[in-house]
Amino acid sequence: MLIERNRPEYAATINPRGVIYHALKRSNSLLIILFLALLVPLGITRAQSQPLADATIVLDPGHGGDDWGVDPAGSGLREKEVVIDISRRLQALLQADGATVFITRDTDRFVSLPARVRYANALLFRPDNQSDHGRLISVHINSNRNQPNLRRVEVLVDPEAEPPYTFAENMASHLLTATGGTVGYRDAGYPDGVHPSDVAPVRWTYPRGLNVLTESAFLSNATQATQLKDPAFLDAIARAHRDSLRDELGR
Ligand SMILES: [Zn+2]
Repeated sequence: MLIERNRPEYAATINPRGVIYHALKRSNSLLIILFLALLVPLGITRAQSQPLADATIVLDPGHGGDDWGVDPAGSGLREKEVVIDISRRLQALLQADGATVFITRDTDRFVSLPARVRYANALLFRPDNQSDHGRLISVHINSNRNQPNLRRVEVLVDPEAEPPYTFAENMASHLLTATGGTVGYRDAGYPDGVHPSDVAPVRWTYPRGLNVLTESAFLSNATQATQLKDPAFLDAIARAHRDSLRDELGR
């Protein structure tokens, strides 16, 4: 099968109603009050630990198989390997937050752009999904052979999307903090780090204008290539994506 679905595992939780029921059976008003007092912090903890429980996220690690993405000489890395590593880390973080997560590829294989778009739209537009709680994140890493000092963050959005670009701007901000990158050039009418781009994963997926393609770092930059081999740096990039989704969709 070309596309696989990954469903999150949910941890067993205490059923507060069950606790209340047993308390009532004892008809001891003091106990009931004590139990109810305990349930308030329990409820808060539960909401905080699963802030993305209502969200459906499609992760789209770029490239794969014969399509290596960028692979600057000397970096020792290929983009297709880095982005699936980041995506797996992000997938685990999002599932821990309670999100329903799907991924366009979770192995080293080629998936065409039209197949990625069809997959994402089928999931985000399915009848039981609230479309404003669905997002596609296409994960990429950049390269520029002619400017090896570049280390900027780019978040690409649908060129036909209307402002404000709140989610993309927030994503760029989190990625800048995580990577120590810069915003590079600025497109007129767009926030720092946000750029219109006619790439399929953001141009042809829904809801229009709410999906992003991230270029978190430059593999052609020797410093960042070294960092991209460090699990702590990959975790930081994954957490930046997660934190942005929490800001956008968290409850
Ligand atoms: Zn790429």
